[in-house]
Amino acid sequence: MTKIMPQPGILEIAPYVGGASHVEGVSNVIKLSSNENPFGPSDAAKEAFSRAVHELHRYPSTDHAGLRKAIAEVHGLEAGRIVCGVGSDEILSLLCQAYAGPGDEVIHTEHGFAIYKIAALSNGATPVEVRERERVTDVDAILSACTDATKLVFVANPNNPTGTMIGEAELTRLADGLPPQAMLVLDGAYAEYVDGYDGGASLVESRDNVVMTRTFSKLYGLGGLRVGWGYAPVQVIDVINRIRGPFNLSQAALVTAEAAMRDTAWADKCRAENTRLRAWLAEALAEHGVVSDTSTANFVLARFADKAQAEACDTYLQANGLIVRRVASYKLPNCLRITVGDEPGCRRVAHAVGQFMGAGGSGAEP
Ligand SMILES: *Cc1c(COP(=O)(O)O)cnc(C)c1O
Repeated sequence: MTKIMPQPGILEIAPYVGGASHVEGVSNVIKLSSNENPFGPSDAAKEAFSRAVHELHRYPSTDHAGLRKAIAEVHGLEAGRIVCGVGSDEILSLLCQAYAGPGDEVIHTEHGFAIYKIAALSNGATPVEVRERERVTDVDAILSACTDATKLVFVANPNNPTGTMIGEAELTRLADGLPPQAMLVLDGAYAEYVDGYDGGASLVESRDNVVMTRTFSKLYGLGGLRVGWGYAPVQVIDVINRIRGPFNLSQAALVTAEAAMRDTAWADKCRAENTRLRAWLAEALAEHGVVSDTSTANFVLARFADKAQAEACDTYLQANGLIVRRVASYKLPNCLRITVGDEPGCRRVAHAVGQFMGAGGSGAEP
């Protein structure tokens, strides 16, 4: 018998399962399972990526100065408080690695993103799940779950897969109510979709216990490139920079993300289309008897009568070339998360859900 064992916690991790991208035997498939931008990245970003091919023999920048400058200018932030990572996933993991270990508690919400628990367990910390109120982050529940061992509190705002969010006053109350050794991590993967919301940047600037994470994977259409960033107090940035890989981001990723960040016209167009089509999709589903909470992100969480109906609808959609996301692992077995696609995609999925529900919602052929 081998005595070689991984660190405590690691074997408790349920491996992350990504959104499916194909259905056996079905062509003309539309993927609405990973909250990707249906319009893809901006032309400027694609051109920057093509140009980067000539520099592949060079090591990338280690300080990410160009990308941090672009982010700072576009968002009105301080470049010295920005750190870039291999997707925001890497920033979330680095925060756990730096601030939470054996004996420490890491809070995440009931329907929170799977990576929080994985990152906590990877570092031997104890994940603590806190209930939500009707699929909305509950600040009071989080504050009462805090103990002397709480080191990190992860809140996605807007949240995935619920699509709901809480306002600035609630976020401030949460930050101010935490015990002194705990840090609030605001995951702003979908912040760009919310008009007038800074993702928590002003809270980061006015407090020393708040970190914001952002990504190029959603609005910027660069999920395949793996670029995210964090905005944090300088002492946290200093800590993260000590442990992150010096060459964590390739030069191709850095220059492409920089071009994407500066192409604000493309981002604005994608945001406007998402807002328009999200409202259309939610209403079309409701007309077919499938309700959802008001979404603030680029997906709709469709609620069915029960788990059996949600699964039957998913099976029906797959047979019709539409891939959406089951979210039973997020304790939402009666729901399906549907990414807001382009207009034909939205029409196709709404039509198929309508056919399914019209046939009695049991999966029988209409
Ligand atoms: C998609 C998503 C992310 C982004 O992950 P990346 O590693 O940046 O691709 C982070 N948090 C939540 C809640 C997400 O849904």
